[in-house]
Amino acid sequence: MTSVPAIQLNDGHRIPQLGFGVFKVDPDETERIVSDALEIGYRHIDTAAIYGNEKGVGAAIAKSGIPRDELFVTTKLWNSDQGTQSAIDAMDLSLEKLGLDQVDLYLIHWPRPDLDRYVESWLTLEQLQADGRTRSIGVSNFHRPHLERVLAEGSVVPAVDQLELHPAFAQRELRAFGAEHGIHIEAWGPLGQGKYDLFGEQAIQDAAAAHGATPAQVVIRWHLQNGIIVFPKSNSRARMAENFEVFGFELSAAEIAAIDAIDRGQRVGTNPDEATF
Ligand code: NAD
Repeated sequence: MTSVPAIQLNDGHRIPQLGFGVFKVDPDETERIVSDALEIGYRHIDTAAIYGNEKGVGAAIAKSGIPRDELFVTTKLWNSDQGTQSAIDAMDLSLEKLGLDQVDLYLIHWPRPDLDRYVESWLTLEQLQADGRTRSIGVSNFHRPHLERVLAEGSVVPAVDQLELHPAFAQRELRAFGAEHGIHIEAWGPLGQGKYDLFGEQAIQDAAAAHGATPAQVVIRWHLQNGIIVFPKSNSRARMAENFEVFGFELSAAEIAAIDAIDRGQRVGTNPDEATF
């Protein structure tokens, strides 16, 4: 079976660099889809309370018989649960739905700076980590000012910041800030969510032709070779397998540079500073 490289987080725990994301995976289909992903070889699953499919993820894990310590499971605190007791209760509900007594990584899903509860929520995540309900803690969609407050007011450095990130929105500044502080970057929407023709970009087409790979495989390699943690989503077993078969070739420095040049600050999702959900 393909061996996925692991990245060591700042707390010493290791995360498989390639995983499987389940945003918009129908709760009724989640067990089957995650079972397919586990059969293909994925061992890192990225879900969230708001996706409504933690139960299906848990069912697939239970059915798989894969030893718990070979799996890496991430879930996230939803915005309306930010706070202290509300965050503890939300984490307990996530664990119950997943059928686990501990997750590998728990994230604050969005900073929602307008609510001004993300620092309080972070201090609660520190407690949840100390209690053993999660091995690692991190954030998602945090911009530099949000990270700076957490670094100043908390006592644990977030293990990761999960950000919208793909060749057209490459997040160079936050990647540099993360590298400076030991915060690993995870990419959401790594394939641009299929919302624009990322795969039609010449640099991606050229690299795909040169390596006999698909454009999706080239984009996943670009993430991996940039040290980014990535978990593309697909409901299709064939595409899941395609997205996992990315360890048989390597992009050259020139190919990486050509794909880097696609960056034009083009988001496909919401700007975290403006989120109101
Ligand atoms: P993605 O970039 O992974 O795109 C998924 C879409 O790409 C699929 O629906 C499919 O249409 C297409 N696709 C997948 N594989 C393909 C292939 N081989 N060839 C052609 N098309 C292909 O977008 P995503 O699902 O939004 O992001 C990945 C994961 O990131 C999510 O499932 C979720 O776990 C996480 N996420 C987190 C946040 C956050 O706010 N933290 C937001 C969105 C997503």
